[in-house]
Amino acid sequence: MHYYRDTWMEIRLDAISENVRNIRRYLAEGTELMAVVKADGYGHGAEETAEAALEAGAKWIGVAMLDEALFLRKRGIDAPILVLGYCPPQHAQVAAENRISLTAFQEGWLEEAGRHLTAPLNVHIKCDTGMGRLGVRTLAELDSLLAALKKSKWIRTEGVFTHFAAADTLEGDYYQKQLEKFQAFLSRFPERPEWIHASNSAAALLHPEAAFNLVRTGIVMYGLSPSEEIKPALPFPLKPALSLHSRLSHVKKAEKGAKISYGCTYTAEQDEWIGTVPIGYADGWLRDLQGQEVLVNGKRAPIVGRICMDQCMIRLPERVDPGTLVTLIGRQGNEEISADEIARKRNTINYEIVSTLSQRIPRIYK
Ligand code: PLP
Repeated sequence: MHYYRDTWMEIRLDAISENVRNIRRYLAEGTELMAVVKADGYGHGAEETAEAALEAGAKWIGVAMLDEALFLRKRGIDAPILVLGYCPPQHAQVAAENRISLTAFQEGWLEEAGRHLTAPLNVHIKCDTGMGRLGVRTLAELDSLLAALKKSKWIRTEGVFTHFAAADTLEGDYYQKQLEKFQAFLSRFPERPEWIHASNSAAALLHPEAAFNLVRTGIVMYGLSPSEEIKPALPFPLKPALSLHSRLSHVKKAEKGAKISYGCTYTAEQDEWIGTVPIGYADGWLRDLQGQEVLVNGKRAPIVGRICMDQCMIRLPERVDPGTLVTLIGRQGNEEISADEIARKRNTINYEIVSTLSQRIPRIYK
């Protein structure tokens, strides 16, 4: 692909492969890895990430919705895919035709899906052990779901799973309660389904006892920690795959007292070199990043004035040429700006930073 834009993301697929290999090495024998590539691979590209993860030994692909699964099938990804979120039952046949497994937890859903099916469909039963999002919540609910499944002509129980709400903290009580509840759910199965899974990235790396025979890892595959709190406790270093770069489109001297950008929120305190960077809030570089630093020639330079839709301005430490490289996430020399630093500035989590960088930014794969 050729791009004319001077702002781009660099995605290191070798970093993703290395992270996947490290996670697999850490897992017990017999535990497989599901690469979670929903939301376009957390902003890294679903197809490229899925391919890199599968090459590095991932067995399954996890997505949030049927559309994401179908996209990957159309791109030739042949591995088993599970839709982790809700899929309306009238689309069950589309999933079945494309060998895509769906998440099930409502009797009514099974009945309705059954009416649309003319081919076998694999489902994974979701147990809500404390996340409060999707899933059966009581053993009685599970029992009647299993009874309904037994009667179903086309639907086969391929797996059972749950999702931890607080595995990314060092306090383990809530995690422990969820695990116990999940064990109770598992004990109701007359026959264990082929795949049993509970762990996200945090649990996969901190609680190996909950791995069963499959873990669903997203964020650590991309080289980011599930939280700042557990970062020091992770068993091996992670390699961030994504960096974000641009080139100065303009450089000028702003005289003392000059105003910069909408609302005139910034005033030059002295004569200053100001650079314009062609990235803005429509790229996911949101307005609350005003004041955040970027890297130019290995030095930090703050964003000054409001961030516009497609551009923002920075105060340069010295005069540099237009066209000079600007790194917004990543490393230049000894300085590094991580997705975690951006998340701290925006009072959010690294997941949100990488997954909301917009489709308008080209991705260059290395
Ligand atoms: N499993 C489910 C059901 C999820 O919703 C997610 C992501 O939110 C994951 C696994 C992967 O989580 P993480 O990126 O923390 O590994």
